[in-house]
Amino acid sequence: MAHPSALLSPEVGMISPRTRARMVQRLQAEGIDDARVLAAMGRIPRHRFVAQALAGRAYEPVSLPIGYGQTISQPWTVARMTAAAVAAEPLQRVLEVGTGSAYQTAILAALADEVYSIERIEPLLLRAREKLAQLGVGNVHLRHGDGAAGWAEAGPFDAMVITAAAPWSLPSLFAQLRPGGRLIMPVADGRGQRLRDLRWDGHTAHERDLGPCHFVPLLAGTVAVASGDHGW
Ligand code: SAM
Repeated sequence: MAHPSALLSPEVGMISPRTRARMVQRLQAEGIDDARVLAAMGRIPRHRFVAQALAGRAYEPVSLPIGYGQTISQPWTVARMTAAAVAAEPLQRVLEVGTGSAYQTAILAALADEVYSIERIEPLLLRAREKLAQLGVGNVHLRHGDGAAGWAEAGPFDAMVITAAAPWSLPSLFAQLRPGGRLIMPVADGRGQRLRDLRWDGHTAHERDLGPCHFVPLLAGTVAVASGDHGW
């Protein structure tokens, strides 16, 4: 787990810690009540995970572009998914599919012993690695690949957080969850997307609906494109 002081990085531009505190207050007003999640989101500098030109918007209740057609999820979504993952106590090993900006990764790393995160777009993965190192987050393992296959040799996991939407609930990943573990993911059907919290009892997945959501689609295969600025 990252030492709390490691994340107290210098603030950039005009962003004050009060801006982050206001985001946390808003999340509380929106029903996020897990004190550990709120504390992590109050500590981790979200603006460091977006392009400097977007840093002033990092604490707004919106998703923002991170390049390569991808987005950093909005704060409520990160908080809700993390709160559902934390419910799988003890939270020792977490698998994240879709590292993206690595903001959710850093939040999970503040609450779990080890985080394993897979990203299919190589430049995003490389940027995530650099960002997490800059912020002193050491308990994260990153892999370039198709996360739909999971990370079998690192399992079993206590929780899995899938940050891109699929039209099914990735049943193959249950084999890498311990009994009592949780798989949290956006599931898309013809009518839209719903965030699902699936508790695996070792034989059956018990599903809970966490409400509507809007994610980029989970895509098969990997992408190894040259890193350009792509809006970063
Ligand atoms: N939690 C991330 C954040 O806040 O920055 C979310 C990033 S975005 C909503 C979803 C990410 O999933 C993108 O970076 C995308 O490239 C990645 N992705 C999509 N399909 C994937 C797959 N099959 N395996 C791994 N990553 C995938």
